[in-house]
Amino acid sequence: MEEDIRRIGIMGGTFDPIHHGHLVAASEVADRFGLDEVIFVPTGQPWQKADVPVSSAEDRYLMTVIATASNPRFQVSRVDIDRGGPTYTVDTLRDLRSQYGTKAQLFFITGADALERILSWKNLDEIFELAHFIGVTRPGFQLTAAHLPADTVSLVQVPAMAISSTDCRARVARGEPVWYLVPDGVVQYIAKRRLYR
Ligand code: ATP
Ligand code: MG
Repeated sequence: MEEDIRRIGIMGGTFDPIHHGHLVAASEVADRFGLDEVIFVPTGQPWQKADVPVSSAEDRYLMTVIATASNPRFQVSRVDIDRGGPTYTVDTLRDLRSQYGTKAQLFFITGADALERILSWKNLDEIFELAHFIGVTRPGFQLTAAHLPADTVSLVQVPAMAISSTDCRARVARGEPVWYLVPDGVVQYIAKRRLYR
């Protein structure tokens, strides 16, 4: 029956905007772990993130759709956006678990910085029961296995891409290019909607 189980990656993020660091991480993990699909899940609307306003959920959702449209294994879910309020990973995992049922094995893909934060949460036991966690390297963030429960968290090296959404927004604000840091369609969407000015 093992072959009936779908292996599903979940990549949560603010995606303001989605960039090639996100896409390379998802692609690399999908390859290494033999995932059938990766679902990108833009977060619900936070008030702000590190003191800067966050673009609307619809803009972030559409950029995520544009960026992933050409890859048949990449999907986008609205669960966190439609639930509303700040996103807690345990809610994301519960919702996707009930959507996909027991025929799916969930792999939560997260960068080194985000993994550090997740490991400090409560509900950790439930979270680890819902999904296997995959921490990916991210330039500037140390990822050490020392304190990680090996049976629930795997670490993966992805090709270093020193791209962050914060830097992309700052570039747009300064009138500098983001070509090749984000997918072409996202460059055009940012210009069309005049985001980050
Ligand atoms: P911001 O600068 O606004 O925080 P971000 O670039 O960190 O944006 P997020 O939407 O916060 O992007 O990240 C979503 C997930 O992708 C997180 O788990 C984060 O660690 C991971 N991630 C982001 N950028 C990279 C990258 N360049 N390489 C690997 N993982 C990344
Ligand atoms: Mg971030």
